[in-house]
Amino acid sequence: MTLRVNGKVVTPTGVIRQGCVEVDGSRITAVAEYPSVRDGHWVLPGFVDMHTHGGGGHTFTTGDAEQARRAAAFHLGHGTTTLLASLVSAPFALMRDATAAFAPLVDSGVLAGIHLEGPYLSSARCGAQNPEFLRDPSTDELAELIERGAGAIRMVTLAPERDGALAAIKLLTSHRVVAAIGHTDATYDETRAAVAAGASVATHLFNGMRPVHHREPGPVLALLDAPNVVCELVADGVHLHDGTLTFAASVAGPERPP
Ligand SMILES: [Zn+2]
Repeated sequence: MTLRVNGKVVTPTGVIRQGCVEVDGSRITAVAEYPSVRDGHWVLPGFVDMHTHGGGGHTFTTGDAEQARRAAAFHLGHGTTTLLASLVSAPFALMRDATAAFAPLVDSGVLAGIHLEGPYLSSARCGAQNPEFLRDPSTDELAELIERGAGAIRMVTLAPERDGALAAIKLLTSHRVVAAIGHTDATYDETRAAVAAGASVATHLFNGMRPVHHREPGPVLALLDAPNVVCELVADGVHLHDGTLTFAASVAGPERPP
């Protein structure tokens, strides 16, 4: 059965057409231009959100499956069709229980996966993370979570200067889990070593990171300079100055990764 969705259609080239998208099952069969159809809606691909801790008054951080379901439904209602559930730094038992609770939601497509933001982060750059739970990366813990999640763990943010970080990055990438760098006081060289070991995402670049210094460029320049690293930015007009966003987008724009 063909379904037609009218509105301002955003096409892959960025050209916006007034018209409709025709869908047959899981296939887009046509994008037609109807300049006369003007109902004000936008038609565009589903949003992908790889870092959010909840939504609509519901949190992922307690590991409660019902809350996770409601948070995901809230985001789906606003156009996000691919969503990672981000936890925060927590005791291992909570990470383990949350992984077990969310894995069925990943299986059924409610969530695209779990993002562990911590607890292997820098105390000096903890931001809103609870410093009580921060610790060095543990490959034992990660291996157990990866096994328990059976594909549900998709990304882990860690600070590469912590003992054991490089081994953790290698373990993660060998299981096709994205290693992300964030909440870090790493030097430029430490960050480069993490990228060389397989890290491929910068978690909220600039925020929760050692700032740039001209003699110690730190993680920010190392991450911007690495062509395979996807840089996440908090583009809310508060966390980053517009000039910072403009600069970052000019160096690591939407064409990245190659
Ligand atoms: Zn954070």
